Amino acid sequence: MLLSSVKQYLNLALPYADIDPESWEKLQYPRKTMEATIPMRHDDGTLKTYRAYRCQYDDTLGPTKGGIRYHTSVNREHAEILAFLMTFKCAVAKVPFGGAKGGITVDPKSLSHRELERLSKAYIAAFSDFIGPDLDIPAPDMGTDEITMGWMYSEYKRIKGGNPRGIITGKPVPLGGIKGRTTATGYGGYYVLDYILNKLQSNRQVSIAVQGLGNVGYWFANKCQQEGLKIVAVSDVGGGTYNPKGIDPNNIEGEKISNKELLELPVEVLVPAAIENVITEKNVGNIKAKLILELANSPTSYEADLLLENKNVFVIPDILANSGGVIVSYFEWLQNRQAQEWEEDEVNLQLRNKIRTATQKVFERCIEHGISMRTAAYSLALKRIGGANECLGNKGYFQK
Ligand code: NAD
Repeated sequence: MLLSSVKQYLNLALPYADIDPESWEKLQYPRKTMEATIPMRHDDGTLKTYRAYRCQYDDTLGPTKGGIRYHTSVNREHAEILAFLMTFKCAVAKVPFGGAKGGITVDPKSLSHRELERLSKAYIAAFSDFIGPDLDIPAPDMGTDEITMGWMYSEYKRIKGGNPRGIITGKPVPLGGIKGRTTATGYGGYYVLDYILNKLQSNRQVSIAVQGLGNVGYWFANKCQQEGLKIVAVSDVGGGTYNPKGIDPNNIEGEKISNKELLELPVEVLVPAAIENVITEKNVGNIKAKLILELANSPTSYEADLLLENKNVFVIPDILANSGGVIVSYFEWLQNRQAQEWEEDEVNLQLRNKIRTATQKVFERCIEHGISMRTAAYSLALKRIGGANECLGNKGYFQK
């Protein structure tokens, strides 16, 4: 996946954004990408060096926001692509943030907990002057979790003093984390799907295949089951299970299938919820689902996306479908700044309201202009970011 590839979505969206192309041009490159080298002494005495990144793509709408990923595939461009997606995700969800992302090139499973704690604290020390509750607010991503956020929060607090809880989201609840953050992305995906199913068809008799029963996929599948939607296939990195009669995500029984087969099943709804780039030019011809809900970031390549549109497959893009996580992160940041504690029911209710409003706005644009949901989402985000830029005057204004 290349930054130049995802940026093509902006070209498709510009004609519908109703903004001066100057604002579009400003979004072609990240505002700032920082790199650091972290030497760390391992438990066995050896010193190893790790590469770390933080990209702040655009801060027009507020402090930048985005996760920290620990994975061997992390590099500068990877951070920039994910920060780009965060920029537009925050604008579609209408949370007052720009987009950021960061990470360390490491396999977290290869480290002990003591090593992970040292590495996480060193990451914060390296970037402490560039992040802050009003500047750039990290969160968990693949390979990091709430305890990582707890270590990072305590290190930031040690360096800067005070109790700056709004510096990071996804913290453990006793350290200012919010209830309902774990389920947020999966539940948010369900609320989006529920809205769209009601618009597109009169019944909810759909079969759903979920690739990646991790945090996001599991809570999505769980919510679908609670709400009477039928999951027929699930998988993890080791392979999948298919049962046309229905699968209980807590008691998985059925025929064993591969991840490749899962993507090509005869289902109504396909939900990639694992990794990037799983729907490409190579397999798009075999996809039978009529609706794709992108819970993973960037699961569809740009070329495959165009082919899906030609096949009339209704794709609900990542920047809308998986925005439940950043919406509840925003609630956590608000809760911290107001020294409040929200109850879980309240979090879920506010999440439902906010993500349904975003879905409605994107769907209305999609119908009004006859464009894909992805182009509708990018054009809505571009309009919001461009509109904020143009408050300071555009070319027409300064020519007078
Ligand atoms: P996770 O690590 O909890 O789960 C990932 C799942 O995918 C696991 O079941 C894993 O076994 C499976 N998987 C890994 N590699 C695979 C492969 N090659 N083929 C099939 N399955 C594979 O991660 P998560 O937090 O659930 O995140 C999943 C996706 O959702 C990622 O793309 C992430 O960027 C995106 N996302 C997560 C959040 C969040 O709040 N966690 C928010 C927005 C987007």
